[in-house]
Amino acid sequence: MSGPFSHLSHLECSRTGERHDADVVQGTSRVGAPLLARYDLDAVAAAVTPADVATRPPDLWRYHELLPVRDPARVVTLGEGMTPLLPLPRAGARLGVPRLLMKDEGLVPTGAFKARGAAVGVSRAAELGVTGIAMPTNGNAGAAWSAYAARAGLRSLVAMPVDAPEITRRECVVTGAELYLVDGLIGDAGRLVNAAVTARGGLGAGWQETSTLKEPYRIEGKKTMGLEIAEQLGWRMPGVILYPTGGGVGIIAIHKALLELRELGWVSGDLPRLVAVQAEGCAPIVDAFHAGLDESTAPAQPRTVAFGITVPKALGDFLVLDAVRSTGGTAIAVSDADLLEAEAALARDEGTWICPEGAACVAAVGQLRESGWLRGDEEVVVLNTGTGLIYPETVVAEVPTLSVDGVIPS
Ligand SMILES: *Cc1c(COP(=O)(O)O)cnc(C)c1O
Repeated sequence: MSGPFSHLSHLECSRTGERHDADVVQGTSRVGAPLLARYDLDAVAAAVTPADVATRPPDLWRYHELLPVRDPARVVTLGEGMTPLLPLPRAGARLGVPRLLMKDEGLVPTGAFKARGAAVGVSRAAELGVTGIAMPTNGNAGAAWSAYAARAGLRSLVAMPVDAPEITRRECVVTGAELYLVDGLIGDAGRLVNAAVTARGGLGAGWQETSTLKEPYRIEGKKTMGLEIAEQLGWRMPGVILYPTGGGVGIIAIHKALLELRELGWVSGDLPRLVAVQAEGCAPIVDAFHAGLDESTAPAQPRTVAFGITVPKALGDFLVLDAVRSTGGTAIAVSDADLLEAEAALARDEGTWICPEGAACVAAVGQLRESGWLRGDEEVVVLNTGTGLIYPETVVAEVPTLSVDGVIPS
């Protein structure tokens, strides 16, 4: 390996392609769209090979040339990344997709894949001089950004709906965040955070708003899921990837990762068909996909147990729809009853307790196989975005209690 730690070159507006400077703190583009990080991929190809990457430690920083942090000393890490890509033989046989694999993000710090975006986003923010991050969250992102802010020595201000998973409150509090609960949805939390940041002096006072897709680097952290899937398959792409889609950062990021790898020449051929999975109680992207639209409309009463994907209107909806359509993928909504059943069935089949968002993908595999959209011989990867331990209330544990002189039935 030779050359710089990062080959970041600039930021690009996802709507207009306009260039923005990557070496100052940026939010959205001039027209209010997400900014995408661009790299000098020719230089990356000349500087590093897959064989070099193979010798590096098993965390997401092994792809540092394709990440935005310029100074290795600014990397803020808790050891995130290189999660298992697990075969699911029993579940696969039951669902009629024997080559079913699961990328298991339950094993990252804070218990959800949000750690990836937080590790890279916080590292880069601190490198650019930010001293406090502020964000609305449905729970898991706030927990992750608070944790990494603590690790980096930054302040954190977080607002989440009162209905967000209770454990994520405690995660924010224990890592020292200034936390507010909001009697509303994530969008309401976002407005309150925005007003607070403005009132506190904004960037001039060191505060950056790090809402989903309102800063450019969270997506870069999440991109490493796609890089890892390709590396773990021996620099090859699977046939299909299913992703539980809320703000859509993960699916946009996996799409971006695979396009970058193909441009580098590290993988070749067709991209996997990307599938955006949502819950029936909040499925704006699924609705837009089937209506042939490029943008989504917020549902009136969004509600699902899969709290991480309760996002009524995603800033990057058009990018999700593009990722799905340009790869020949699809979008599908599953009911809460079906995703909870899939969560329980997978734990029995494979011994892994996944989060309801990940379980939505498992349920979707069954439905897409039944409809014939998935063939039985395809290699299918589902993303499990977090551990079931964050959602204890999704499993009922009604079991007998014995007195000390009681008897366990024989
Ligand atoms: C945030 C979250 C999602 C959705 O992530 P996006 O990439 O924003 O679509 C899915 N699952 C869990 C567990 C989450 O916390």
